[in-house]
Amino acid sequence: MSDAVTPSVPRGEFDFQHRPETDQSFENALAKARAGDRLTVADGIELLTTGTDRPGIDRERKERVLEAADRRRAEVVGEEVTFVANLNNNVTTACNTGCLFCNFKDRSEQFRTSNGADHGGFTKTPAESREIVADAVERGIYEVTSVSGLHPAFALDEEHREILETSERGDLNYRPPAEYETDPGNYVEQIAAMNVGGVHVHSMTPEEAYHARRGTDWSYEEVFRRLKAAGLDSVPGTAAEILVDEVREVICPGKIGTDEWLEAMEAAATVGLDTTATIMYGHVENEAHRALHLDRVRDLQDRTGAITEFVPLSFVHEETPLAERGMVTGGATTHEDELMIAVSRLYLDNIEHVQSSWVKYGDAQGLKMLTCGADDFMGTILSEEITKRAGGGFGECRSIREYADMIAAIGRIPVERSTDYEHRRRVDPGADTLGPRLGPRADGTPLLRDH
Ligand code: SF4
Repeated sequence: MSDAVTPSVPRGEFDFQHRPETDQSFENALAKARAGDRLTVADGIELLTTGTDRPGIDRERKERVLEAADRRRAEVVGEEVTFVANLNNNVTTACNTGCLFCNFKDRSEQFRTSNGADHGGFTKTPAESREIVADAVERGIYEVTSVSGLHPAFALDEEHREILETSERGDLNYRPPAEYETDPGNYVEQIAAMNVGGVHVHSMTPEEAYHARRGTDWSYEEVFRRLKAAGLDSVPGTAAEILVDEVREVICPGKIGTDEWLEAMEAAATVGLDTTATIMYGHVENEAHRALHLDRVRDLQDRTGAITEFVPLSFVHEETPLAERGMVTGGATTHEDELMIAVSRLYLDNIEHVQSSWVKYGDAQGLKMLTCGADDFMGTILSEEITKRAGGGFGECRSIREYADMIAAIGRIPVERSTDYEHRRRVDPGADTLGPRLGPRADGTPLLRDH
């Protein structure tokens, strides 16, 4: 008999309508998954729980789910493991939204000139963003990813700013840039600034798009059309968290609801932008919510076909309000993480790529996820701090050399990719020097000077 593992997070103190209960059996659900049949929410719950007929996670059953997912991965994308040479350029940490799982933001009040307090956060002007991106493009990146706090001074463009300035409404979370130490410009200016030298600009989550149309009757299509004209190439499907409103009401009551998130993503696809999709799990939600989330993402992809990859993000609880208030005592267990990757692969039969996030899982477990159904290993994520410190400790950054060595070590083929996976280049781990080659200025020189 196999041993069961109880999740470290006691879920169930919340009075949720959706519970991990089904009429399906684990064996039936697994048989369907192995046969490649389209799974139902009940099937997803059975696989994520390794059967609702017993408590905790059954290790032997879990291994069978992982094996089915790994086999599916091999059928769909083969043995290549991809990564992208990219830069993270987050514009500001100023945000009032107050999501309980977030430790990235700083209250925007602290950024006001009148405040004077030392807050440790940052805001970049468009000119600063441009300089940072231009430097990284010269180093060979293909993509810049930019996700920011919802700074009250942000408007979509000057027309939007005029609407916000003259509005009599007091609920628009708007203050003029002049009230802040640093003027972040508007979204269109930031996107245009980052659109340098032919780099791919990956930015404007549904939540940011909502902020970029507040106080107007503009559609999301209109917002994304203007951003695309400024140089936006694709949209990160973050801010999804769990796409079930009863969970969003607990962890991010200030954020848009599930329907609006889906509406924004559909609009991005309608104007011709590729998207990604994410799930952030391992906090207050249960397996029914995870399965419902997968179902909503699969439906969205049926409608748009624009989602290039799915990214499971395991909740990191330390220093978040959820932990400080005692609403969670930990994140997902490793067993849950592996099952999340595997069931994502099996459930999302219309999304080709599943990402293993080494930032969330760490190197060793991140590699393990590549045998549980994942086939993409994120990006180099240079950040501007890292760029400045190049030659010293690199922190959260990965060189092409490290990628090649790690992926080859598990017997798979390292492949540098474009954001949309259309351009791919196999990397030879035996080469003396390894650098990116797909970026507009990439010539094979290593990204980091001492590699
Ligand atoms: S919107 Fe929420 S998750 Fe995003 S920075 Fe603000 S508080 Fe954090």
